[in-house]
Amino acid sequence: MSDAGTQTTKGNPTQYISDQLSELRAKGVAPKLRVLEGEQKAVCTFDGREVINLASNNYLGLATHKALRKASVDAVKRLGVGAGAVRTIAGTMQIHMALEEQIARFKNVEACVVFQSGFTANAGTVSAVLGKEDLIISDELNHASIIDGARLSKATIKVFKHKDVADCERILQEHASFPGKKLIITDGVFSMDGDIAPLPALCGLAEKYGCIMMVDDAHSSGVLGRGGRGTVDHLNCHGRVHIQVGTLSKAIGSMGGYVCGSRDLIDFLYLRARPFLFSTSHPPATAAACAAAFTLLDSPEGERLVKRLWANTKFFKRELKKRGFQFKASETPIIPIHVGDAAKAFEFSKKVFEAGVFAPAVGYPTVAEGKARLRAIVSAAHKRDQLLKAADILREVARPLGIL
Ligand SMILES: *Cc1c(COP(=O)(O)O)cnc(C)c1O
Repeated sequence: MSDAGTQTTKGNPTQYISDQLSELRAKGVAPKLRVLEGEQKAVCTFDGREVINLASNNYLGLATHKALRKASVDAVKRLGVGAGAVRTIAGTMQIHMALEEQIARFKNVEACVVFQSGFTANAGTVSAVLGKEDLIISDELNHASIIDGARLSKATIKVFKHKDVADCERILQEHASFPGKKLIITDGVFSMDGDIAPLPALCGLAEKYGCIMMVDDAHSSGVLGRGGRGTVDHLNCHGRVHIQVGTLSKAIGSMGGYVCGSRDLIDFLYLRARPFLFSTSHPPATAAACAAAFTLLDSPEGERLVKRLWANTKFFKRELKKRGFQFKASETPIIPIHVGDAAKAFEFSKKVFEAGVFAPAVGYPTVAEGKARLRAIVSAAHKRDQLLKAADILREVARPLGIL
């Protein structure tokens, strides 16, 4: 036995990590990372096996699009590979400012700030805009980055039942005399069920009770609304949402997050959002790829890609329903296949993978205990025959496991 194995707990202060890990492995809820060989495509090779890829958020196939590649490579040649500093010191390049202006125009808002990721955009913004004397009213299924931002702000956090506008109003009534600022915050599209927030009704509450309204459009940027302009456009809530967050890491195909709003909001975030102040800005190639993506989205080709994404989504959902699957809540390309038990969901995913389809299982802490599922995501890049084959494989594997 090695020395490490014979050490007492006192001698090895990290022993509990190994113990917890063994426990997770024994329960069958510690899946290994799947490693992609080559590019993120509709069909690609993970861990040496060619599979139909229903696992990525690369909704429009832009992660490998030639226009984005070219923009990226050109930026490397022209501007190098790193920004060299945080935005507030020396790391603001012309290409960063141009991207922010482009996104603001695209979203039809006054101004935009780009962060290193959607995660930092949410966490950095919520914690900058609110403080400990304030109130955050948050959908129970909001993304982890919103929850972390809310915690960092030290504001009082009240959670309303998923998409339940009446429950949200109950909280607002109970806090009618709350002295601080109030923020209603929701995902635009919920990442685990693929359902859409009741944004118009929440905007109505924000207006009635004098709240700031914030929406996280990570799964709706490039997916919902004209040319992928997000839920505010899709649900016609123009001018009613003060803070719109989006990601550049999903449909946009690259990496980053952004916040859109008033000029003053953005100028304030330049001064107070901690990831903006304390973490280096994007390499030029990333900014260039994102800019190329928005140029594309604003063109007929972009509109075609968004249309194809939705046509594929409708097709695949119809084929899955024909085979007996149900996913009532989903209104988007995110399709959850409910399993319940986490170990069983991981087994389902593993067997589906061995049969040629990659759709990851999601369990606690990403979803609540007992609500584990397989999550399949359709993209514009899938071909009909690939989706048909995937539907057949899902059925064949689900039956003997008692999932169908
Ligand atoms: C993915 C996601 C994020 C984080 O975006 P990244 O750019 O990957 O950091 C934030 N919010 C929601 C709802 C998401 O699904």
